[in-house]
Amino acid sequence: MMYRIAVLPGDGIGPEVTAQATRVLAAAGRRFGYEFCFQEGLIGGIAYDATGQPLPQATLDLCRSSDAVLLGAVGGSKWDNLPVHLRPEAGALLPLRKALNVYANLRPAMVFPALAGASTLKPEVVEGLDIVVVRELTGGLYFGDKKREEIPGGQRVVETLVYTTQEIQRVARRAFELARKRKKKLTSVDKANVLESSRLWREVVTGMAREYPDVEVNHMLVDNCAMQLVRSPKQFDVLLTENLFGDILSDEAAQLTGSLGMLPSASLGDGVGLYEPVHGSAPDIAGRQLANPIAAILSGALMLRHSFGLEEAAAAIERAVATVLEQGYRTADIMEPGKHQVTTTEMGRLIAELV
Ligand code: ATP
Ligand code: MG
Repeated sequence: MMYRIAVLPGDGIGPEVTAQATRVLAAAGRRFGYEFCFQEGLIGGIAYDATGQPLPQATLDLCRSSDAVLLGAVGGSKWDNLPVHLRPEAGALLPLRKALNVYANLRPAMVFPALAGASTLKPEVVEGLDIVVVRELTGGLYFGDKKREEIPGGQRVVETLVYTTQEIQRVARRAFELARKRKKKLTSVDKANVLESSRLWREVVTGMAREYPDVEVNHMLVDNCAMQLVRSPKQFDVLLTENLFGDILSDEAAQLTGSLGMLPSASLGDGVGLYEPVHGSAPDIAGRQLANPIAAILSGALMLRHSFGLEEAAAAIERAVATVLEQGYRTADIMEPGKHQVTTTEMGRLIAELV
């Protein structure tokens, strides 16, 4: 079986970390007998410089005709002053997500046992932490009609928040299915005491819960959830929420795990899935072999699991990461006294050898 993977390295450390992710995927392919065909496309600032577009049509075509997309990162100060639609994030990431219709964003936040107790973490809080935030990605305030008008004394702005039953159902189903494969606990987060959209959200989730009697469901208001995540995050398994709340809560959950360099993400729809590290292009360390490639490598593992159903190979990559960390290898961002510091490339090679 041959799987076609579009690789979009992007800007900053994107090319460095995606190179290690494809190396590890290729190793997993050799080990388990799958063929992965990697084809590169331009995205972000580097694409703008080469073509005048942050998301060239050729890249979109490549992504649409592939089985999955692996993205590095986009952005950098060089492109910050362009008009919004030409900027790497607004002009490339949002339209790519929209074009692939990836409506469910999965962000696992977990702490590898080898890193528990590390000085970069708060061990008493996060040891053993393993949660996934499922964020609705193509609706809500981010995509509603916006208006700004002059009024006496200043301006008036309007943002609209739209959700349909069907949009809530499809992301909720992802979360229920995921919870079923994990600890069977789903927390749906909303603001149902204030927002009509949250009331519909709650009705849909409550209705769907009847189809998943094995999953324990509870509803939590977003302000309480933000507090609980800091206070006792291990009470959670799968968190399900809408676009804006998910943006905030997934960053909050990420911080509990210590390093941005460790966190993968998957954006799923009914077609091609998009996989990328949670971190940005990190221009401050780009090109210096300092970047941690593990977030990108674990994004590759999520691709095998969620797009291709290759659970065994996905788990092998995750085990290889855990083992390399247990052996004491660290990139600069997670380095501690008594451990061995390695470069981006060395970390990728060590993990690939163990897959
Ligand atoms: P963006 O706007 O793209 O999200 P940002 O500045 O918010 O950018 P990052 O680019 O992810 O976020 O960088 C935040 C900090 O984390 C930087 O100091 C960066 O060097 C560090 N960092 C991010 N990713 C990694 C990584 N993979 N390895 C090591 N350090 C990283
Ligand atoms: Mg950021």
